[in-house]
Amino acid sequence: MRVTENLSELRTIRRALPGVFGLIPTMGALHEGHASLIRRARLECDHVGVSIFVNPTQFVPGEDLSKYPRTIEKDLALLGSLGVDAVWTPTPEVMYPDGYQTWIAVDKVSRPLEGAHRPGHFCGVATVVTKLLHSFTPDRAYFGQKDAQQVAVLRRMVADLNFSVELVVCPIVREPDGLAMSSRNAYLGPQERNAATVLYRALSAAKARFDAGERGAEALRDAVGEMIAAEPLVTAQYVSVADPDTLEELPEAASGALLSLAACVGETRLIDNILL
Ligand code: AMP
Repeated sequence: MRVTENLSELRTIRRALPGVFGLIPTMGALHEGHASLIRRARLECDHVGVSIFVNPTQFVPGEDLSKYPRTIEKDLALLGSLGVDAVWTPTPEVMYPDGYQTWIAVDKVSRPLEGAHRPGHFCGVATVVTKLLHSFTPDRAYFGQKDAQQVAVLRRMVADLNFSVELVVCPIVREPDGLAMSSRNAYLGPQERNAATVLYRALSAAKARFDAGERGAEALRDAVGEMIAAEPLVTAQYVSVADPDTLEELPEAASGALLSLAACVGETRLIDNILL
């Protein structure tokens, strides 16, 4: 496995890896969710690259940029054991050199949900993913359904800007008690960790109501909101039933609709979703 911070070295490494190339962009603090993307890419591609970059431009002022978990030695050991070929660990100076002023803004689909609570977040995501795609020139790039709006934004960007890459979306990996794996789960104290299980329980209960015939989006949102409200350590920010591509709220839930939420568990902001 070749590891570098340097862009021209990355390009040299990449040129020596022929065949179908798969990229998995990450912010490090790797867990089984990231590993599932890498394993899938290993099955489907001749060579696999991973980026580890805690992208400052996708953090909104006041968010957890400085305390975001950084576990690079452990991450590299995991990537080695997974058979990754190339790892790029750019510094912020490599990614955003002095004088940087170019941004990718994906318009409507970036606005609701995460975009409404984290203004500028998706501009940072779209910009850094563009730079990662230009740097690695992968045939396929792997993303998790965990970040459902990110997937919608990137799909729009890839279509609008004619990127020559196939986006592959992988299912959410969960802890045995249902909590979606996330690098931010490391922030949770024991009581918060326990309380956080309400998120998936609430999504699952609403999905059960959908499966039993409930089609009113408001009723499904309320069902999730009420279960979360009953957990004192957790505060919901939004609960949404939306079209999975446009993220527009639906009056009626339909098969394939995206039921998603963001909530604060103590100080920690978590997101989760389920497809109906
Ligand atoms: P991050 O390091 O949080 O930026 O995540 C890197 C990639 O891993 C993104 O495409 C995420 O959607 C994906 N990912 C993170 N957590 C999970 C999970 N629990 N299951 C599946 N994919 C995930």
